[in-house]
Amino acid sequence: MRASRLHLPTLREAPKDAEVVSHQHLVRAGYIRRVAAGIYSFLPLGVKVVEKVKTIIRQEMNRAGAQEIFMPAIVPAELWQESGRWAKYGPELLRLKDRKGAEFCVGPTHEEVVVDLVRKDVQSYKQLPVNLYQIQTKFRDEIRPRAGLMRGREFIMKDAYSFDATVAGAHASYKAMFDAYHRIFTRMGLDFRAVEADTGNIGGSMSHEFQVLAESGEDAIVSCDSCSFAANVEKAPLALPEFVATPVGLGEARVVETPGAKTIESVTQMLGCSADQMIKAILYEADGEPAVVFVRGDREANEVKVKQALGVNALYLADAAWFVQKTGLPPGYLGPIGMGGLKAVADGELRAMPTAVCGANQKQAHLVDVSPARDLQGLTYADVRMAVAGDVCPRCSGLLRSFKGIEVGHVFFLGQKYSKAMTATFLDEDGTQKPFEMGCYGIGVTRILSAAIEQHHDARGISWPVALAPYEVAVLALNPDGPSFEHAQKLHDELVDLDIETVFDDRDERPGIKFNDADLLGYPVQIVVGRKADQGIVEVKIRSTGVRFEASVEGLSAKVAQAVRAARGGTALQLAAE
Ligand code: ATP
Ligand code: MG
Repeated sequence: MRASRLHLPTLREAPKDAEVVSHQHLVRAGYIRRVAAGIYSFLPLGVKVVEKVKTIIRQEMNRAGAQEIFMPAIVPAELWQESGRWAKYGPELLRLKDRKGAEFCVGPTHEEVVVDLVRKDVQSYKQLPVNLYQIQTKFRDEIRPRAGLMRGREFIMKDAYSFDATVAGAHASYKAMFDAYHRIFTRMGLDFRAVEADTGNIGGSMSHEFQVLAESGEDAIVSCDSCSFAANVEKAPLALPEFVATPVGLGEARVVETPGAKTIESVTQMLGCSADQMIKAILYEADGEPAVVFVRGDREANEVKVKQALGVNALYLADAAWFVQKTGLPPGYLGPIGMGGLKAVADGELRAMPTAVCGANQKQAHLVDVSPARDLQGLTYADVRMAVAGDVCPRCSGLLRSFKGIEVGHVFFLGQKYSKAMTATFLDEDGTQKPFEMGCYGIGVTRILSAAIEQHHDARGISWPVALAPYEVAVLALNPDGPSFEHAQKLHDELVDLDIETVFDDRDERPGIKFNDADLLGYPVQIVVGRKADQGIVEVKIRSTGVRFEASVEGLSAKVAQAVRAARGGTALQLAAE
């Protein structure tokens, strides 16, 4: 491909709204353009990368025995009412009406549609197992679309659904998808971890997320330093410690004045204590009622765990005025002693605190010398905080380490959740009707572009793994008018003949612009054809390492082709000076 013919509008500056590197580079390098919040167009090179992602996914899905189908994006409300999610899903579900007033949604995920499909066409255990997948545009009206393709509202997902006759069969299907995901992300050259995860809006009894490790990731994950345990912090269970004894000689809990000190930081400054000696109160609206969660001052509440502990569905941080009106208690000074009948749960870790400082339930005051063993026996304790580095592994006695990750895939063991709700049954060997045992398996196709760039970039731009690059090799002709142009053209043609995706920068531009663009766009191998081309010498540059070396054009195409082919499986490029 000639660069002079490519629609490749690169920009000097990143757009102002782009805070994350992958977003900046995707826009600057001309891969995507914003249409509305969380909604993007893909330019030619963007489409090329998306197609590469899809191809790898398709190959591995097919190899694992899944079959491709294509379902509609617009889904009738009746199906969602049958599963019960029409009422439950909340404002992320984009709902619409047709001209007759019939209700629809734009599918954020397709369990309902596929269950309906399969229940109509699969009657007998003899037709099982079956695993159907599609690669399709989804819509989720995310409250905070961010970081370009990372969290879009419209995005492309691969979603697969397995149907089995038995639980054992469904486990085998889950395992096949789990293994396929390992191959997919390995082939893409991504550094990732599979971690135990919460099942969220989808539901089911077991799930794993595939997380690409990156500092900019939204997800916190922990893994054990001595066993194979790894989980999203939302999911990682923590042991509840026993109460530690009240320190000898500790006086009664007493009220001290803390005027204006409503935050952990201001209280610690005023009283000269540290955050881990404090009890923090987090106020919620839980299924419409006020509730409070107590955690140590330096910890975060884990809302997935809090929902479970309180036994509620909808959990939001409470509006302070609403909370005061409902309870009469002063936000900022709320504590576990004397809070009346307020619904509350305390994190188990509070029991390991010898003494604590907490709100006094009166304005401008805190309680000091609180001993949980002596004063807080009556609270309901549960595991309601986020795991952090240094916590004890729930499986062994090892310690947890923490990472940031970007969720690119998620596999769920659903069991009969949807098949029961939607009476999707088959005739089993024993002559009875049984609900299907299901699993569902998602991959964020477009999010992978962001995740790959977060992991593979530098200040100059993107550095694609070979498997995802829009072009594997760029040949830069530095003097479009000189004789070296012919050499460059020849190298390009040879590489194309060898089945290497190659772009030929034939533009009438300064060398600096060509170098900058090649680095910004992220071509893995760059061959610079300059003055020495007449003597048969060119320069080869490896984008990922920055290594450059001179090479003879003699046999170069074959050598480059061999290295590129080897790296298509997700490994580093092995190409060096002779
Ligand atoms: P998240 O926790 O990031 O909101 P999720 O758990 O809601 O994602 P799933 O329902 O598991 O997402 O969807 C399957 C995959 O689709 C995710 O693993 C992710 O890679 C991708 N995905 C989900 N939401 C978005 C989005 N808003 N933009 C881009 N990709 C997304
Ligand atoms: Mg998920």
